[in-house]
Amino acid sequence: MSDSALAIKAVDYEQPDNSPTGGAVCATKHAWARVPVEPGPAERAALKDKIRRLLKEKNAVMVSHYYVHPDLQDLAEETGGIVSDSLEMARFGRDHAATTLVVSGVRFMGETSKILSPEKRVLMPDLDATCSLDLGCPVDEFSAFCDAHPDRTVVVYANTSAAVKARSDWLVTSSCALDIVKALKDQGQKILWAPDRHLGGYIQRETGADMVMWGGSCIVHDEFKAFELEELMHEHPGAKLLVHPESPAAVVALADAVGSTSGILNAAREMDAKTFIVATDNGMMHKLRTLNPGKTFLEAPTAGNSATCKSCAHCPWMAMNGLADVARVLETGANEVHVDPALGLRARVPIDRMLAFTAALKQGPVPGSLVAHIGAA
Ligand code: SF4
Repeated sequence: MSDSALAIKAVDYEQPDNSPTGGAVCATKHAWARVPVEPGPAERAALKDKIRRLLKEKNAVMVSHYYVHPDLQDLAEETGGIVSDSLEMARFGRDHAATTLVVSGVRFMGETSKILSPEKRVLMPDLDATCSLDLGCPVDEFSAFCDAHPDRTVVVYANTSAAVKARSDWLVTSSCALDIVKALKDQGQKILWAPDRHLGGYIQRETGADMVMWGGSCIVHDEFKAFELEELMHEHPGAKLLVHPESPAAVVALADAVGSTSGILNAAREMDAKTFIVATDNGMMHKLRTLNPGKTFLEAPTAGNSATCKSCAHCPWMAMNGLADVARVLETGANEVHVDPALGLRARVPIDRMLAFTAALKQGPVPGSLVAHIGAA
């Protein structure tokens, strides 16, 4: 795609100084996102047809996140792929028979797919699509943080590089973090948590676990504002508030339900309300509205008196995924994700522990002996 068909966005994110000698002060750093211009109707239809054909020809399947463009969500499902949260994306890609995975999301999702499926070709629409949590947790500083706390079990969120995963004991996503940290706490373990401070704070409050935390944040969820949210709730007194736990504590405290993307979808389906206010990336609105046609979904406010105007409730890096690039990478094999095999093997250990734990959890409460067994594997 030519540069004229792209919009370049400057993005600020925070990198905390959590090193043993640091003062735990966040430094604002800069990144960018390159967002494709929306194709017109004829081009859009032609691109979809081309992708459908190429998926068959190349024995490929689409794996899309809830936050990417609705076209990439619908096309994934229509062609036998999946739209889901990062945990299900990882599972689905590993278990699917296709030899090529086209991962629409951000870089760590493609890396996780490659780590779990090293024999498969993993392609992404744009390899520069990243995440403020990943950017804000460089492996050298993170390793020093771990070295300063050798008595702690290292639990990292999926939104991290392969190198940070390789330095950890357990991986979690927002859909299983609470259960895994609670199980580790029940084993008497103290936790080193990274990188999202809001999700970590939520888990600490819910479980009472002894946790030291990296200070990263998601530039989208960090922007939800409790004061403006309360005003919107007053305007819609019957509405239920659904909040992703990457949001600040003051926003989480107002929620009727707190959950991952899949947790928010479940709550919207099950809760007895006609109107919902949703505090997560607005890419979720497509699935929420499609699955609940009789219900109204309002975006939680990110602006207002205390706004810094960094976000508009949509991730600039998720927005880098577009139809034209999906077609291009399928056709040319460009944008293949590579992970150093030795690093991938080490990074796979905490991922496999998470997958083993969540598989066991589906059968019921996970006994401590099994948690210990999984943690030792
Ligand atoms: S929405 Fe936030 S957590 Fe998700 S990829 Fe974007 S910056 Fe990262």
